[in-house]
Amino acid sequence: MDVIRDPQHMQAQALAWRAEGVKVGLVPTMGFLHDGHLSLVRIAKEKSDVVVLSLFVNPTQFGPNEDLDRYPSNIQRDLELCEQEGVSVVFMPDADAVYAQDASVFVQEEQLSQGLCGLSRPIHFRGVLTVVAKLFNLVLPALSVFGEKDAQQIRLIRRMVRDLNFPVEILSGPIVRESDGVAMSSRNSNLDPESRKQAIVLRKSLQAIEQAVKSGESSVAALREVAEACLSDSDLGTLDYLEFVDDESLEPVTEVGDRAVLVAMAVQFPGARLIDNIVVAK
Ligand code: AMP
Repeated sequence: MDVIRDPQHMQAQALAWRAEGVKVGLVPTMGFLHDGHLSLVRIAKEKSDVVVLSLFVNPTQFGPNEDLDRYPSNIQRDLELCEQEGVSVVFMPDADAVYAQDASVFVQEEQLSQGLCGLSRPIHFRGVLTVVAKLFNLVLPALSVFGEKDAQQIRLIRRMVRDLNFPVEILSGPIVRESDGVAMSSRNSNLDPESRKQAIVLRKSLQAIEQAVKSGESSVAALREVAEACLSDSDLGTLDYLEFVDDESLEPVTEVGDRAVLVAMAVQFPGARLIDNIVVAK
């Protein structure tokens, strides 16, 4: 396994692979790897000749009062896990090598990024799409794999690929969970023990919604009440949002019908803001 830090070196390697007809799979991450990330590596490995895992805590997707400085890191462990999974290259550039000091071109999506996480994190998706576009240009992957845990993110990336004609196939992996059902997240390690216990309220609320839909409830107002009853079990978490949106347009809906509805939520705990989601339909 190679570790590449220099973006130019990464691109030269990618061009060499392209000339040899090697099919590259890319898994972008911010490190502090867990089984959620590794599940994406396995998907990439199955479908490509070489897997590049990028490990980059991207400063442009963090707002001024967010957790950039507290983002967890254990590079030695990450490299060991990548080696075990058969990753070919870990690309881990420094931020100042990725962004010119006077960088002035960014990728801004204007529809799907407006609601959900975009409301409380207004510059987040501009940072995400910009860095993913840059990674596509540096790694030249034939395919790239993202997790459904970040539901809005993967929909935005598919939209960027469509609207800007990136020659890359986007694949997704399902949410991987801890044994108690909490979605795996690098940020879980920043929760104090009591918050970590209460983090299950996201999953419980979404499961209660799923159950109510299965039992015939279709009114979003009623489903919201079901979730709010679960959320009252947590005194440490503050609901940032719970939204019911059309799975494709991400426009809010008032009823769950035949079309898939994405139910997405974010809860702020003292140490970390957590997200989770579920897709429901009649
Ligand atoms: P991150 O390092 O948090 O930026 O995540 C890197 C990639 O891993 C993104 O595509 C995430 O959606 C995905 N990911 C993070 N957590 C999980 C999880 N629990 N299950 C599946 N994919 C995940």
